[in-house]
Amino acid sequence: MIELLNPVISGWSNYYSTVVSQEAFSHQDYLIFQKLFAWAKHRHANKSWEWISRKYWQTIGGERWVFATRPEDKDPQTLRKHNATPIVRHIKVKGDASPFNGDFIYWSTRMGKHPEAPHRVSKLLKWQKGKCALCKLFFRDGDVMEIEHKIPRSQGGKDEYRNLQLLHRHCHDVKTALDVAAGGMHDKHQVTEEPSTLKGCAVVRTD
Ligand SMILES: [Zn+2]
Repeated sequence: MIELLNPVISGWSNYYSTVVSQEAFSHQDYLIFQKLFAWAKHRHANKSWEWISRKYWQTIGGERWVFATRPEDKDPQTLRKHNATPIVRHIKVKGDASPFNGDFIYWSTRMGKHPEAPHRVSKLLKWQKGKCALCKLFFRDGDVMEIEHKIPRSQGGKDEYRNLQLLHRHCHDVKTALDVAAGGMHDKHQVTEEPSTLKGCAVVRTD
């Protein structure tokens, strides 16, 4: 039973180690303890609480209530505890766990180093931590990106970094529609995608 449960406990704990607390793990251990004790009590219906706890649980290495075997010739097999798994915090990707994160790191690194990577795109990409300014999702390899002036140049917006943001093309279209619907001005015509050997690159036209 220990051999069957340990991989499940390890897998579950590792999977959730970035999103739950140590208390949550301890609670899981408590729930398992309750179930194991009920199982043991069922097996030995006429034995006392003390007898059952001595038979199935041990103190090993200072750790109390370890569900373990008692072999005479070798080390005991022990049931893994959830709270033995350290909690790992990944603040940046919290709620954004994505199979594309790895791609993004590879891709943005490549973009930054590539001689043909538009300097503005790679700089904005780093500032925005690889995410679209509108939908906040990671850019993926192959996404068409566009650089937008936050304040349109026609309204005095300058062509400088703090007035620029990088968006998905489809997000830019959505934003343009919203701006127009709100009666605002939008200088989408200033932004264009330039044919490039790099997929997904966009540049602001300088004219
Ligand atoms: Zn987007």
